[in-house]
Amino acid sequence: MTIFEKIVRRDIPADIVWEDDDVLAFRDVNPQAPVHVLIVPKRVVSRLAEATPADEALLGKLLLASRAVAEKLDLVTSGYRVVINNGPDAGESVPHLHLHLLGKRPLAWPPG
Ligand code: 5GP
Repeated sequence: MTIFEKIVRRDIPADIVWEDDDVLAFRDVNPQAPVHVLIVPKRVVSRLAEATPADEALLGKLLLASRAVAEKLDLVTSGYRVVINNGPDAGESVPHLHLHLLGKRPLAWPPG
């Protein structure tokens, strides 16, 4: 079981900022920006590269959840970034699909 599954099951604590039936959003334990929220599906998909057409609706829900979190945390005017790390070169460290939502500071481009 991944650490994110344990958070979804409330087996370990997290600072949860938003939730619906399919998606949970909570603050990253090692934030890279003043706002750094992880948005995860409650049903495990390992990573974007493992998603299938059966996950189409869930993928859409994750993006719409990022919009809802951005509104809730007052990021809409200042802007924000949504990132998915897939595989070793991207630095993926938890094999449970997650969106990073980053904001409340200027974010460099291209990313490192
Ligand atoms: P990845 O590197 O896989 O894209 O992102 C995994 C993220 O999960 C990292 O930013 C890391 O700080 C975060 N993370 C790892 N373990 C925990 C945890 O137990 N709780 C929370 N809230 N975040 C975690």
